[in-house]
Amino acid sequence: MKTNDFIQLEDTYLAHNYHPLDVVISRGKGVWVWDSEGKKYLDCLGGYSALSHGHVHKKILAAAVSQMKRLTLTGRAFRNDQLGLLSKEICQAFGYDMFLPMNSGAEAVETALKVARKWGYEKKKVENGKAEIVAVSNNFHGRTITIISFSTEKQYQEGFTPLTAGFRIVPFDNIDALKKAITKNTVAILLEPIQAEGGIIVPKNGYLTKVAQLCRDNNVLFLADEIQTGLGRTGKLFAYEYDENAKPDILILGKALGGGFYPVSGILTKKSVMEVIRWGDHGSTFGGNPLAAAIARASLKVLIEEKLVENSQKMGQYFMEKLKTIHSPWIKDIRGKGLLIGVELTENSGGARKFCELLAKEGVLCKETHDFVIRFAPALLITKKEIDWAMSKIKKVLERSDI
Ligand SMILES: *Cc1c(COP(=O)(O)O)cnc(C)c1O
Repeated sequence: MKTNDFIQLEDTYLAHNYHPLDVVISRGKGVWVWDSEGKKYLDCLGGYSALSHGHVHKKILAAAVSQMKRLTLTGRAFRNDQLGLLSKEICQAFGYDMFLPMNSGAEAVETALKVARKWGYEKKKVENGKAEIVAVSNNFHGRTITIISFSTEKQYQEGFTPLTAGFRIVPFDNIDALKKAITKNTVAILLEPIQAEGGIIVPKNGYLTKVAQLCRDNNVLFLADEIQTGLGRTGKLFAYEYDENAKPDILILGKALGGGFYPVSGILTKKSVMEVIRWGDHGSTFGGNPLAAAIARASLKVLIEEKLVENSQKMGQYFMEKLKTIHSPWIKDIRGKGLLIGVELTENSGGARKFCELLAKEGVLCKETHDFVIRFAPALLITKKEIDWAMSKIKKVLERSDI
């Protein structure tokens, strides 16, 4: 089958909920992928940051295959010999008491919201039905009805009402607005330490410290969605580490936790919070299955053993420096941390989509986020040589004046 045949199939039989570039990928290794006709590309999207370990990492593959041959699913009606180990390893590695596994990122966010509400009623003694959660504008936390209920993106809500109640929205990176939004019924503040889908928006230094302090002062839980920014993506293990004393009460993980193989997500928190969840309060058929647990264990191991966090820091800096040497009439701003980088284009550039299409032709895959930002989030094991290769193409496309 040819490229166009695959595209035809998707356009006919697949819901049109995405607007993909017309590249049909059939194989991947490390930062590289090959299309169905054998053309090679450097993947700079990295599965929206889910491919931090690169494509088909050998050690994670070995762990996955070995587990697949042994046991894949038990349901939480029984215990399995992987989930307890993952829970211990992830709690000890990241400094939390307890773990609650899910599958997709959105489910993990929902889990955090449920835990926060229940904590509010049981521990903070908020009057029944009154719990409030504060979120910030320009957020992205997933696509369930509850999560889109506090999105500020019109398209995410239109046609999907009625929405879930109990949320307040304040501007991101504005501590005064946050202060004003807190009432005696506030149980949690939810935010991304760096807004990724929102266009790689990095808050001012110290913002997260203030958020965490505000939460402590008001007996409110600080929920950090590090689904995209976590596990080394931003050059630290977690993006909240860029600020002092900003450790969240509930840490929400997903994406790269599955090593690029499998959806694995979950939340981490302390015992006094997690204990509000009791038998039957919450669950998931696939959440915490032995295959997921084995894969997540291998992904964490690789992250540490191969020093992916350090590499993200170093290569992110290198990537950023190189981008800054490009003389393009279209670049308005370059920002980000580690290997989560956004290049914002000027309004007269015509938008980022066209540039992504041209880059794909040159062999570099990336995707626009919002209309004017190109996001670069390659695998954390990318090398200087690979960045140099990508940069020659990026430069060529961005320096064109005839767009
Ligand atoms: C991707 C993402 C999610 C949603 O994860 P899914 O696995 O797509 O449900 C939530 N929050 C953030 C910050 C994300 O980047």
